[in-house]
Amino acid sequence: MAPIARIAMAVLLFSATFINAAPTATNVDNDAHIAGFSRAVSKAAAGVQLVYKCTVPNTMAITFDDGPFDYTADLVKLLKAKGAKATFFVNGDNNGKITDYAAAVKQAYLDGHQIASHTWDHKDLATLSVSEINAEMTKLDTAIKKIIGVKPTYMRPPYGSINDLVTKTVGAKYTIVIWSQDTNDWQHPTDWKKSYKVYTDKVKKANGKGGDIFLEHETIKLTAQQLAPRAIDYAHSMGWKLVTVGECLGKPKSTWYRS
Ligand SMILES: [Zn+2]
Repeated sequence: MAPIARIAMAVLLFSATFINAAPTATNVDNDAHIAGFSRAVSKAAAGVQLVYKCTVPNTMAITFDDGPFDYTADLVKLLKAKGAKATFFVNGDNNGKITDYAAAVKQAYLDGHQIASHTWDHKDLATLSVSEINAEMTKLDTAIKKIIGVKPTYMRPPYGSINDLVTKTVGAKYTIVIWSQDTNDWQHPTDWKKSYKVYTDKVKKANGKGGDIFLEHETIKLTAQQLAPRAIDYAHSMGWKLVTVGECLGKPKSTWYRS
């Protein structure tokens, strides 16, 4: 399936899940309904914390989902040139197969970016059984370990879609990361300026508090090539340090992975 079609399907799937869960008149706002849905679920699964925002003062995290893909290698070069770190929530078999982009994933890891799980093939985990959920996680862990030598301890559920079973099953082994700001790049993949406006409207000056965790998709060409460089420059100009999700939570690198 083409990248855009996949993302569109993701949104439809997620919207359907949420509307079933809590029909209200405010469901039109994508950020709000995703966050609201996830928070409701997190209460049900006691003891499992979901991550939405950074906690370390003056840090902000840009996250790239759904890769690796054709633009990953250049994006890693760009991040290095601009002195920024990011988090890649990768799939095993989504827009591209991870084995076809192993060099780019390895370079991202070596450069200090965080490699995290976005499941093997981007299924909606809320529709799966415990064994199916575990299979989605372990299959990708094995593939990532072959490339970088370790397995990720952080994950993001596809579509941000979770239920009590997902939260308990995945939360027992992984830090579950949602997001606090969606640039909505999937909504206008041919007009990066709209995403940039969403982004700049939401990035406030660093003020001693932890910043947002931004959702972007590295599988969208204009996100990787036009939005990302400008987003990095803008964050820096506003006094933010762009770091990985682990770092923006104050967690040392040794805890981002397991053997
Ligand atoms: Zn995704």
